[in-house]
Amino acid sequence: MSNPVRRYLPISPSVTPSPKVDNDTANTRRIRGVVFDMDGTLVSPMTEYLREMRIRLNVPPGEDTLLYVSRLPEPEKLAAEETIMAIETRALEEMRLQPGLAELLQFLSHHKIPRAILTRNNRQSVDHMLQQVMTPHHNGQPQVFTFDPIVTRDFQPIKPEPAPLYHIAACWGVRPEELVMVGDHRDDLDCGRRAGAVAVLLKDKVNTHFMPLADICLESLDQLISYLEKGFTLPEATASN
Ligand SMILES: [Mg+2]
Repeated sequence: MSNPVRRYLPISPSVTPSPKVDNDTANTRRIRGVVFDMDGTLVSPMTEYLREMRIRLNVPPGEDTLLYVSRLPEPEKLAAEETIMAIETRALEEMRLQPGLAELLQFLSHHKIPRAILTRNNRQSVDHMLQQVMTPHHNGQPQVFTFDPIVTRDFQPIKPEPAPLYHIAACWGVRPEELVMVGDHRDDLDCGRRAGAVAVLLKDKVNTHFMPLADICLESLDQLISYLEKGFTLPEATASN
């Protein structure tokens, strides 16, 4: 029997998040880690670049770009992968931190809540973001911008499968339902819901139709702080399609 609601206890300085032997029950739990999508979540959206990829690679409507490319015969596949890398590299130059990110990362760091990145992008783009965009002198708090683990499309299967979130939970020694998955796309929300995590949508101009798939919707990343500080209650998790 499943429980009618999921209760998440507040994170506060008086509550040590560590030992797992506390009063967590089947439907009362703590957030023990936050997983971030990269493009459109940590940094400004890549919507136009993703659209450009689809057009240049002739991806049929409704098909996933990376899956489509992975099924191409060898010569075309290689060329398509190079096209994707070239577009991603160009997108790097326009990367900007999303509003409220620094505040949220500082809060998580202060409360010793681990942070991870889960992206369908490539590892070079993540490294570039960490080195060039998340500058060590940002707010004078370089230590808040650490993410471990960093899971890219080298990990199979990728989002929206729940496997990468299970992997991150195992790395931290926590349960998937103790994680928050923050993203700007359906892939992030489906991945989070399928894993039993809290699925959080960072809203933008083009993604509000994903709101029904999210447990929590944010206008900016720092809004997540008050949910974590005060605790929150969600309806019973429903299996995503
Ligand atoms: Mg994204």
